[in-house]
Order: sequence, then structure tokens, then C-alpha cells
Amino acid sequence: MSIRIVVGVNWGDEGKGRMVDYFAKDVDYVVRYQGGNNAGHTVVNEKGKFRLHLIPSGIFYDNIVNVLGPGTVINLEALLDEINELQSRGISINEKNYRISNRAIICFPYHQLQDEYEECRLDSKIFGSTKQGIAPVYSDKYLKYGIQIGSLLYPEYLKEQIERCLSLKNPIFKAVYNKPAVSANEMVEWALKYGSLLKPHIEDTIALFRNAIKSDKNILMEAQLGALRDIHYGVYPYTSSSCSLSAFAPIGSGCFSSSPDNITGVMKAFSTCIGEGPFVTEMKSDIADSLREIAHEYGAATGRPRRIGHFDAVASRYGVITQGANEIALTKLDCLSGQTTLKICTQYLIGTTKTNEFPITAGLVQAKPVYTEMPGWSEDITEIRDFHKLPSNAKAYIETIEQLIGCPIKYISVGPNREAIILR
Ligand code: GDP
Ligand code: MG
Repeated sequence: MSIRIVVGVNWGDEGKGRMVDYFAKDVDYVVRYQGGNNAGHTVVNEKGKFRLHLIPSGIFYDNIVNVLGPGTVINLEALLDEINELQSRGISINEKNYRISNRAIICFPYHQLQDEYEECRLDSKIFGSTKQGIAPVYSDKYLKYGIQIGSLLYPEYLKEQIERCLSLKNPIFKAVYNKPAVSANEMVEWALKYGSLLKPHIEDTIALFRNAIKSDKNILMEAQLGALRDIHYGVYPYTSSSCSLSAFAPIGSGCFSSSPDNITGVMKAFSTCIGEGPFVTEMKSDIADSLREIAHEYGAATGRPRRIGHFDAVASRYGVITQGANEIALTKLDCLSGQTTLKICTQYLIGTTKTNEFPITAGLVQAKPVYTEMPGWSEDITEIRDFHKLPSNAKAYIETIEQLIGCPIKYISVGPNREAIILR
């Protein structure tokens, strides 16, 4: 039996989906433990190129059970759309290989509406939400107005809970946003319509994982966002609304009583960030524009251009620590071929003080990067599978990063395909 947790070290979009697709070859279960369809994980393998939102990245293997854990939030309609799209491309999704925790929370159309209304109210002060209703649905969860997906099996209870939630939501819609009330009956219809097809997938994932552990199965837990977007430890309030850290994985999946063998932190060879908030190593636009095109840095969920920065060792070291990572997968090294000079941010200058520590947002907004510069390489490295065959400047770049973040880089990804990986 083994447990591996694959997490993001940075701002998200590090290539977690790509790494889960790689590691999944050795596992029996892949479980997503937080977030909703604001995620976008790109997987490229022999079956094609896929963008996954609510389906775990183990779906491409025949014998894996893919699970959405109790820490996730699920838009039923979006999930069915995603299932249909994958099925139309020949990917099998059925009651056996796709399971949903009865404790996962339903993301309703009124959560999406609230997200849109709120971004509109904030106008120029937006957080850059994906507008999928994720912050409102997690807020409702913690206000105890959330609705567990298992309630679909109890229609009367479901109806009562929807009415209870809307008894608070509708006055807010009217008073704060001047928007019409949402009909409880329509929401019940929506839930039953889309939920009926999902009912056979719903179960208690505590029992599922207890049995899996008893039967000596291999389990992979996947995070949906990076450490710097974690609600507790990220760049608050420019975070998501859930916990993306490995420490939350047992809670968010319902897989208790066994500690992980590996926590693999996925880290990009340069920095990218989607949405608003301080981003200390952000590049000047002309260099950023060319790297964005080379590396195709556009959001998988929204298509928005990602902001591009130099490698930030202060933020990444913090990401490694908060994730408790014992090994790193460094992705997109191939995208740096052709850069004459590579900058690495080793410290932040805040006021007159240099620091190695990643500050809270109040300090971060004042932070200036302190850089060290390294020579780049021009060779195409996408076909290299042996660390020693990398250009010496690429090896030096990896070794420098490794020292700065204090964690071994065991996997180096040099392309989006499953096999484009160097093991060290
Ligand atoms: P995730 O959200 O962490 O799963 O990452 P995304 O899928 O949103 O973004 C990562 C992007 O980089 C995807 O388009 C991947 O196909 C791509 N990718 C991942 N690893 C590599 C790599 O090593 N090289 C290149 N060129 N692309 C990669
Ligand atoms: Mg992504």
C-alpha cells in the first residue's frame, strides 16, 4: 500500500494534472480533495489532450477508481457536461471508475450568480474570480447553508435545505445587488434533473478508503490549486476559498489512518499567476509576452492570459514548507530554452530589510525582488531523458533552485506529454 499526495507549490497551474497522469500508472485510486470546477488540469497522453475540471486526472487508466472527496464543491450541470465531453472522446466514465463523496457540497446556479454579482459590485477592486461560484459555495458551507450532494437521495430534505439557504440568499441578492430572488422550486428541479444521473456515483468515501487501505491499495491524492492560493496560508485574500495543502488531503478525501509515503510538490521552472494580487517577480511585459507564447500560459479553466514572472525562491520555499513536500517535480524547464539570462529571486527587500521569509500580504505588496542571475541555454531539451545530458547551464539552474528551496528535485518535466520526464 502507498499514499502519494500531489500538490502545487506556487500559484497553481504548475502542471499537477500532468504529474498525476504520470504517477497514476502505479495506483488504484486517484482522489481530488478540494475545490470545484474552477480547476483546470491539462493532461496530454496517447488518448489526446484533455482539460479536466471536476474529473480526477486518473481517469485515463482502465483500472483506477477516481474519487471526488468531501472537501470538493460540485456544480452538477458542469460535471455532467464534462463527463459527456470526455465520453464523446472515448473516455469511459461509469459507476465503477468514478465515485463522489456523499459529503461533497453542491455548487448551485445561485452561487455562480452571487460570484458574478459580487465581482460586478467590486468593479475595479476585483479578486479575479473564475466566476464559477466557488467562494460563495464555500462561504455557505462554513455558514452551514451548504447542501451535501448525498441529499440528492433524500428529495424532501434537499428541498428544505434549498429553501433554508435561499431564505438568507434572496434578501442579500435584493438588498446588496438589487437582483431578483431565486426560485427554490427551480433550484430543486435543477438539482434533481442533473443529480439523477449522478446518484449511482455517490457513496461514503470513508468506507471506500478504509476498504482500500485494508486491501493494500495504492492511493494518489490530488490538489486542485497551489499553496499560495490556500485559504489559510496563501496570499490572502487573493486566494481560493478552500485548503489546497497536503495536510488537508485526508480530511478532503475521507482517507484517514495512514500517513503519506510521498508528498510531491509540483513547481514550475518560472513563475505564473492568474488573477489579481501582488506578484513580486512579475516580468516586464515584452519578455513576459514572448515566454507566455512559448509556454502557452493561458488559463485552462478560463483562457485568461497568465501573468509571468521570474522564478521566485522565497515564495517557492514557503510553498514547499507549507505543503510539507519531501520531493519536487519541476515542470516546463523546456520552455526556458533560448532565454539568454535567467533571474532567480533569492530574497525580498521590504523597506530597508532583506528577508528570506514569505510575508503576509500587507508586507508582500511592498516587497521588491532581490535577484541572482544565471546564464541560460539555447538547446532544445524536450527529447532529453537523462539528467546528465542536460546542458550544463540547465543543470546549474536546477541545482541552484534545489538549494534555495531546500528540497530534492526528483522529477524534471520537459514537455506536456506523459513520457516527457527526467527521473533523477
Ligand atoms: P495544473 O492546474 O497544475 O494541472 O496545470 P495546468 O494544466 O493548468 O497548466 C500546466 C500547463 O503546462 C498545461 O498546459 C500542461 O500541458 C503544460 N505542461 C505541463 N508540464 C509541462 C512541461 O514540462 N513542458 C511544457 N512545455 N508544458 C507542460
Ligand atoms: Mg490549472
